[in-house]
Amino acid sequence: MKILLSSICLEAGTDIQLALYYLKGYVLKNRPAQTGHSPEVVIQVFNENQNIPAIIKNIIRLKPGLIGFSCYLWNIEKILNICRRLKKIRPGLKIVLGGPEASPRAQDLLAKEKAIDIVVRGEGEESFAQLLIRMEHPATADLSGIRGVSFRKGIEIIHNPQRPLLRNAGDIPSPYLSGLIDLKDKNIVDVPLETMRGCSSRCDYCYYHKNFPVLRYFPLKRVEKELKLILSHKPHEVYLMDPTFNSNPRRAKKILKMFIRYNQGANLHVELKAELVDEEMAGLLSQANAYNIEIGIQSTNPRTLKAINRRFNKEKFIKGIRCLNKFKLYYEIQLIDALPHQNYDSLMKSLDWLYSMHPAKVVIFRLAVLPGTTLRNKAKSFGIEYSHRAPYFAWKSNAMAYAEVKNIEKLAYAMDRLYDSQVFQKTLYAFKAKAGVKISAILQDWVIWESRFKRKPVDYPEFLNRKSPMFLQYLCRKHSKARLYTDLLPGLLKRVCSPYHK
Ligand code: SF4
Repeated sequence: MKILLSSICLEAGTDIQLALYYLKGYVLKNRPAQTGHSPEVVIQVFNENQNIPAIIKNIIRLKPGLIGFSCYLWNIEKILNICRRLKKIRPGLKIVLGGPEASPRAQDLLAKEKAIDIVVRGEGEESFAQLLIRMEHPATADLSGIRGVSFRKGIEIIHNPQRPLLRNAGDIPSPYLSGLIDLKDKNIVDVPLETMRGCSSRCDYCYYHKNFPVLRYFPLKRVEKELKLILSHKPHEVYLMDPTFNSNPRRAKKILKMFIRYNQGANLHVELKAELVDEEMAGLLSQANAYNIEIGIQSTNPRTLKAINRRFNKEKFIKGIRCLNKFKLYYEIQLIDALPHQNYDSLMKSLDWLYSMHPAKVVIFRLAVLPGTTLRNKAKSFGIEYSHRAPYFAWKSNAMAYAEVKNIEKLAYAMDRLYDSQVFQKTLYAFKAKAGVKISAILQDWVIWESRFKRKPVDYPEFLNRKSPMFLQYLCRKHSKARLYTDLLPGLLKRVCSPYHK
């Protein structure tokens, strides 16, 4: 039987879905020993811009007997739509779902979606490999006893017991070293890599640690070989997808040194905990061309942090940020809006405190109340109301009204456009210092001022170049600091690179 492993990625060019290659590698490695032959496993990833009929046509052309979809927040609705239509065209096709959107929803999916035959819950490699052995003869397949699998038996939905995690992450073949991913492929620009699997933290809004509750490292020797191979192909970017790359600072430094040793011009993208950054690590990140660093803190409000079960050490965080600033690294600090006890004022306080450190970038994400998370179970007690369709955004809580959530959305846009543009950033800080107005207030002024323009500017840098002097004038008038306009305008015009102001 031909097996098709598939998923839908957000955009073309991000289509190396490691999860599918882990499954394929594990099946190919273990199946011959158990059955004496390898199945034919094909991977085909689609992207969000492809329409459903085209995707279905593509799948039918491949003639699979079983299709496994890897489901995430951003693709579950489209995948379900595809499954319904596929099943109508090919009723005999076995459809299996896995991934963080399927695991916690196994009961709900199997009850509501007749097109879905099986859901693989939790860590999928071993469960999927065993499933394929039993599915040699789909019509008579007996799935009892395969841990981590849910399925329909007549009108009953059966959930087999949970499967324990693989003891050794290294048992899963490397998609790169095994040659499953062909790095010579010209379409590959950005290369994802995991150096570990799992997380030992227990943030209430997150599902990742429920799937992978134990932190397991891929052997360092394997990581080194992978980096050597990947970097020899000179990709544009290597994205280390570990949830907290520097959770073990010594190991992280060793990996950074490997990256520097083999790098031939690639950029590095990592997710870090700022509290664990010291000067040596910041220096290594700089040498490794770390041009995109994500730092999720979600809130600085102690009550919120306690409610979501997250630790935050303010002093260590400041030290870490200073180290990153010293090496002029580009990083993004992430906050989340409608978390428990996070009201509008406390979020603005967090924002102004972060801006006082002159960070490269701060973003505010909308709270997604994910299936299977502790926060989802407790949402009612915090008055959090949210959409029951992916991406499950919250629209209000006891602490934050609907209008405030909407306002924060606009503010997040202003942060992205005005603060990050670099055109206005220095003027922003200068105005703050001289007029005594908080950065969050200036950003809110921008939201009000920009709403005058009926049509959203398409070319934003161009818009900023043309209009930012006008905004400065507005700010000065609004805060009764007319004289500041003449003081700050020359500095602003120096950064404006537009024919309008030459
Ligand atoms: S949010 Fe990050 S640190 Fe927290 S449990 Fe999830 S993966 Fe771990």
